Amino acid sequence: MEKKQFKAESKRLLDLMINSIYTQKEIFLRELISNSSDAIDKIYYKALTDENITFNKDNYYIQITMDKDNRLLTISDTGIGMTKEELEENLGIIAKSGSLAFKKENELKDGFDIIGQFGVGFYSAFMAADCVTVISKALGSEEGYKWESEGAEGYTLEPYSKTTVGTDIILKIKENTEDEKFDEFLEEYRLKSIIKKYSDFIRYPIKMLVTKSKAKEGSENEYEEYKEYEVVNSMVPIWRKNKNELKEEDYEKFYSEKHFGYSTPLKSIHVSVDGAVRFNSILYIPSKPAFDFYTKEFEKGLELYSNGVLIMSKCGDLLPDYFSFVQGLVDSEDLSLNISREMLQQDKQVKLIAKKIKEKIKSELLLLIKNQREKYEEFYESFGRQLKYGVYSDFGMNKEDLQDLLMFYSSKQKKMITLDEYVNAMDKDQKYIYYACGESKERIDKLPQTELVAEKGFDILYFTDDIDEFAIRILMNYKEKEFKSVSSGDLGIEAEEQNSDSKEEKEQNKELFDYMKEALAGKVKDVRASKRLKNHPVCLSSDGELSIEMEKILKTMPNNADVKADKVLEININHEIFNTLKASFEQDKDKLKMFANLLYNQALLIEGLSIEDPVDFTNNICKLMK
Ligand code: ADP
Ligand code: MG
Repeated sequence: MEKKQFKAESKRLLDLMINSIYTQKEIFLRELISNSSDAIDKIYYKALTDENITFNKDNYYIQITMDKDNRLLTISDTGIGMTKEELEENLGIIAKSGSLAFKKENELKDGFDIIGQFGVGFYSAFMAADCVTVISKALGSEEGYKWESEGAEGYTLEPYSKTTVGTDIILKIKENTEDEKFDEFLEEYRLKSIIKKYSDFIRYPIKMLVTKSKAKEGSENEYEEYKEYEVVNSMVPIWRKNKNELKEEDYEKFYSEKHFGYSTPLKSIHVSVDGAVRFNSILYIPSKPAFDFYTKEFEKGLELYSNGVLIMSKCGDLLPDYFSFVQGLVDSEDLSLNISREMLQQDKQVKLIAKKIKEKIKSELLLLIKNQREKYEEFYESFGRQLKYGVYSDFGMNKEDLQDLLMFYSSKQKKMITLDEYVNAMDKDQKYIYYACGESKERIDKLPQTELVAEKGFDILYFTDDIDEFAIRILMNYKEKEFKSVSSGDLGIEAEEQNSDSKEEKEQNKELFDYMKEALAGKVKDVRASKRLKNHPVCLSSDGELSIEMEKILKTMPNNADVKADKVLEININHEIFNTLKASFEQDKDKLKMFANLLYNQALLIEGLSIEDPVDFTNNICKLMK
């Protein structure tokens, strides 16, 4: 029989397929099953408009049979089939997608769509097979046809007797090579797992011929094997089910089936969107970060399905970085997907889906704050850092989205509170949202800088994470209330007592402070009378953009060894120690120098910073003890 030639583009594609890397080869089964499912969809659709056709669900299925001895794998369906012309058109040319043509022809409306607008299609069969035979009989045709090809050389087409409408695709599976084991595509367990992985939610039954065993008749311990067709796909995906049919256990079961995590998820979210973009999604907020969550190896993303067929197991474009802990999947009929990731990134539908998902996660988290406070706190313990990082990164682009989800420890309420709760509880005469930074709650509790603010009765938020102050600096304000560090130059609180000091006294103190400042040249920018200290003798505060806490953090990073906050040494002039300073200023200036250094070092220690010259510090203490 005469061989017909493939069109040039098809030839090139065939080459690509045949030489593709092994790990991708298994998707040929996904492609062929999707085509079968499309073909059944087409009959179903015809039945909707043509009263001569009745669609009885039981008669429509996909069947997988393997014959190990002859190395044959057959995928059969009871779909619409192909006429001679269609075989030639659809399988002889790659550039034209049959499904697309059918779609146009019938002007398919919303709610009915066909898989197969994406992916590598029919030719992928040549990744696993030396020879592909297609036997098909089209709906309404009298006779069947056989199409056969061994790849790039071309194909043959001839009449073939077939009694039922539908298509059989028979693959002659390749022989094993040194590094590729094609035998696997004839093994039950392997085929089952490929079907489960990619085609579990195809809505027609996929029946596979499997080997079973039963006790031999008349015998109790002798068994015999027999073959039987078994449906291997679950067909109705959980995300297509009605929300009120499902219980929390169902979502949890699915979570563990999918191996998303070991413990039960903190929260499951079921989303069904029907609008400009249509999709179903199941999302999970894990109760604990994955073991690699805070490492570079961690890869965010959701599984992406197109009409029940898995097309990507980690689609990162569906999740913003700050919600990277979310797991789950998205299924949409609207995706016109191509296999390349680059295309996906630019896909308008994907962007729309990502936006909806982001909004949904946020609103669910807000609901948790409102209704299940403990759960939210548990969540925040695990992932709060990620949210704060989200506020800070991308130049604060996402701060509006995230600010309501933030929580900090409150000095007054002694628990985690949101910014909204802080602002609502603010005093009438309180201008700022106050915060204090430190390594731990206990440490901040003891910070002298908090004295005045606390005495005023104002709440202070405790920042114990490295990222906290950086994030808040980007946020700048919340509900028009500015953030203010208790260590910042101006606290916005009038301290009455100081105002009663006479001018003369202030002048005198200035000379003393100037002298101390000189003694501490290069270490502090200024020495001042403190307005914030009540009981403690000294503390450090900072002038300018960079806080002392930020300096500490930046110094731990490479290339930042020389960053320095403008430090101010604040002296409590109501403390006894101030009299000692004044006396030394009059009588013994050298001693004052030593005191200045001691006080500065004390302030450093309180701040959690290290002393620049510990030997000098201890020598000075010894000198005083003499
Ligand atoms: P696509 O599915 O994207 O259209 P394929 O290469 O997978 O591209 O398939 C090409 C065409 O061949 C399909 O559009 C369809 O018209 C036809 N076809 C393939 N497999 C079958 C099948 N099992 N039954 C009926 N038609 C089929
Ligand atoms: Mg296809």
